[in-house]
Amino acid sequence: SQVQRPPLSSGGLTTAPHVAILPSAGLGHLTISVRLAVALASHGCLVTLITPCPMSRYISDLRSSFRHIRLLDFDLLPFDAPDADPFFRQFETIRRSANLLGPLLASVTPPLSAILTDVSLLSSFVPVTKALHLPTYVTFVSCAAMLALLCVFPSLRKSAGDGPILSIDIPGVGTTPGSWIPPPLHNPKHIFTTQFVENGPALLQADGILSNTFEALDGEILAALNAGAVVQGLPPVIAIGPQEAVKLGAAARPARERDGWAAWLDGQPPKSVLYVAFGNRTALSREQIRELGAGLEKSGCRFLWVVKSRIVDREDDGGVELEELLGEDYLERVGERGVVVKSWVDQEEVLAHPSVGGFLSHGGWNSMLEAVLHGVSSLNWPGGGDQRMIAAQAEKRGAGVWVKEWGWCGGVNREESAPVSGEEIAKRVRELMEDAAVGEAMRRIHEEAVRGIRAGGTSYEALRKFVADLTARG
Ligand code: UDP
Ligand code: UDP
Ligand code: UDP
Repeated sequence: SQVQRPPLSSGGLTTAPHVAILPSAGLGHLTISVRLAVALASHGCLVTLITPCPMSRYISDLRSSFRHIRLLDFDLLPFDAPDADPFFRQFETIRRSANLLGPLLASVTPPLSAILTDVSLLSSFVPVTKALHLPTYVTFVSCAAMLALLCVFPSLRKSAGDGPILSIDIPGVGTTPGSWIPPPLHNPKHIFTTQFVENGPALLQADGILSNTFEALDGEILAALNAGAVVQGLPPVIAIGPQEAVKLGAAARPARERDGWAAWLDGQPPKSVLYVAFGNRTALSREQIRELGAGLEKSGCRFLWVVKSRIVDREDDGGVELEELLGEDYLERVGERGVVVKSWVDQEEVLAHPSVGGFLSHGGWNSMLEAVLHGVSSLNWPGGGDQRMIAAQAEKRGAGVWVKEWGWCGGVNREESAPVSGEEIAKRVRELMEDAAVGEAMRRIHEEAVRGIRAGGTSYEALRKFVADLTARG
């Protein structure tokens, strides 16, 4: 169904809506835009994906895999901020090029019916899209609690001045400790904070917000948002998740070309393997990697561990050899029971594998949703950003265990927390793999998620209605 072509009119009576999608920096943000591009095309839209250049290799995979999705190169103005986190600097680079997008959008044929812009870019692009009278929708790639935070935070930051934020009352969410919000938000001068404070009010100018979440996970907060209880005048928040993975490039390669881990997984008993991975941006400290290695060894569990000792988009320490961290004979001792991978794996393929029964994760929004989609019991160990807010909501709904005492697993905060001991990790992952109640809770939310994205389900119908409304507007 993913390669279905949009039903472009032949007689000129009905025309498929033409939707442009503007993704942001970082694989997590790009992923949702690509998934939405494919989903909207399958609902009958003509889709143009705007690709801020230079962008990752992922885009060239997209070009070859989905020829019916048009790509529109968007050359960015150079912007230098040597001290800023490269990730947020890239957001800023795209934001500062906003004025160049207007003429590009105006020249697209057939004329656009709407644009979807990533939330991190919203305040810079909404003046441009509004000047073109283009209906503007926001793609939101985190939990509904983060969306609610985005609504209330700007005024809170203003009233707190440079002072600390100890806790926040968010309608629909409840009292949220200051330590759960993304850490950069505590620094009023951080580039993420300045963007966040501008993007919050800009939500009110949008025509709608497409949120990659679903009723069973975030229903109460969505209801509060849509009742105007969080902020008045917020456009409709439309839950369309969890959007399913799109197979591209490396991930679509035939099995024989894949790495050894896939063959190893094939040989393991059902639900016996713990998958350990912390996304693209979270690197653990060396001490923590050592303790994690010891913990996995002690746990006695089978495991597939994707190790990153370096944050992909930060050139911090050049990386370290695994043997140096874990000891020369680690892999020998672990033997056939565990596999350690240092490269990219297709996480969806791992989570979908019948041998995988648990996931030790940083609980990034995409990872959490992917675990739910595949019904894999998870222990979410937040690494930074929105991940404590996500872990809190996931825990409430049975979509993952959260051991608060562990602190941050790494990421931007990895120097701040003492490592969690191997002993403790061994104990918790064993519990995760064996606890029937955790498995049962995950099974329930998994079923709800799957029901929601099938025809007739809440998320499926919400996206269908979104397209129908665009079509009706002409
Ligand atoms: N990647 C992949 N398959 C995908 C998506 C990404 O193999 O479906 C790889 C990508 O080629 C790169 C890594 O994941 O090796 C990180 O991707 P990102 O786009 O962040 O970095 P870049 O491609 O710019 O190196
Ligand atoms: N991912 C993957 N293989 C890897 C690392 C990451 O497929 O080796 C994918 C993962 O499936 C998810 C995304 O990259 O879709 C990570 O997004 P998430 O929001 O979980 O975390 P982030 O990397 O943004 O912190
Ligand atoms: N968000 C953002 N920028 C904004 C407003 C909101 O990135 O100006 C959202 C977005 O959904 C993002 C989350 O807040 O995923 C921030 O989480 P994090 O700090 O972890 O950044 P990420 O790596 O997810 O982009």
